[in-house]
Amino acid sequence: MTPLDIYTERLARVRAAMAEQQVDTLLLSVGHDLPYLTGYLAMPLERLTMLVVPRDGDPTLLIPRLEAPRVDEQPGVFELLPWDETDDPTALVAKLAAGSRTLAVGDQMWARFLVELLPQLPGAEYRRAVDVVGPLRMVKDQAEIDALAAAGAAVDRIAGELQSGSIPLVGRTEAEVSADLSARIVAEGHQKVNFAIVAAGENAASPHHHAGPRVIGENEIVLCDFGGTMDGYCSDITRCVVTGDVPADIAEAYAVLHEAQRAAVASATVGTGCQEVDRTARRIIADAGYGEYFVHRTGHGIGLEEHEDPYIVEGNDRPLEAGHAFSVEPGIYVPGQWGMRLEDIVVATAAGPSPMNAADHDLASV
Ligand code: ZN
Ligand code: ZN
Ligand code: ZN
Repeated sequence: MTPLDIYTERLARVRAAMAEQQVDTLLLSVGHDLPYLTGYLAMPLERLTMLVVPRDGDPTLLIPRLEAPRVDEQPGVFELLPWDETDDPTALVAKLAAGSRTLAVGDQMWARFLVELLPQLPGAEYRRAVDVVGPLRMVKDQAEIDALAAAGAAVDRIAGELQSGSIPLVGRTEAEVSADLSARIVAEGHQKVNFAIVAAGENAASPHHHAGPRVIGENEIVLCDFGGTMDGYCSDITRCVVTGDVPADIAEAYAVLHEAQRAAVASATVGTGCQEVDRTARRIIADAGYGEYFVHRTGHGIGLEEHEDPYIVEGNDRPLEAGHAFSVEPGIYVPGQWGMRLEDIVVATAAGPSPMNAADHDLASV
């Protein structure tokens, strides 16, 4: 399929969802619903970019004139409408959406634009566009799965370098190692680094630790969680290594984490509720006595965005479908002492869970 075919097909499915949910107009600005439908990622700046999709009729991509050259036009998918510095872009949106009773707006549209739009479409009702576009984005087609696999293989190679000891750790700061991982993410073919968490020793107990000036020492755990965007799709992997000897308490906890992650991945079959995958990991960690130290959900969907639906969390009973892509990343975090997490991206398929990461799952001593 050409990109044009892809966007035409996606737009048709979005329109069907709009009809089903009685949404008259879809408004997409900053965020990833827009590139999903058009291939264009809006600049997250103060000038408004907005795709206006009426249920029937042609979509219009309203864009600041100076940013119009960035757009690859997709004839038949949308019409480009550049606005000038002296125009009022929200008035243009209101004109395009005139008569709509129900509008669905993207989560990341700036509040400012919605606040300006509200009085211009009096009586209209608003919903979240994620209810219209989200279920479509959640189910990845083969080209999207191939892109996730390529991004996954790229970070696997970096994880392998970490585990073999070819990325120096002892004596460097977390920030230096983070910069090193970031450079490798780009060198492996990603266009963008999304994050490179490096957390040593007690810092690893903070799941989203910001790599800082702490110098990595001997015989401590180093948690590395890194990923980027390659050809539009995201990678995300976590591996831990120990510099030198593995302390007994860390080895014991890691065996539990390893089993929890393995079992959760194995449980992620089509038809299984998302929360069941979370429960599988949590049960094993809790039974071993670490329940209070597993402080976050088991995973998040991934695709154009690092974090998107479906979330692998208690309360989400959505059954997994073939094409759902998500992380499985349980962790154990003992405040003041150490933390650990093990993360792979997995795609649910008719033939069973298909991991996008194959880097070794053991706790390497480097
Ligand atoms: Zn995270
Ligand atoms: Zn991660
Ligand atoms: Zn993740």
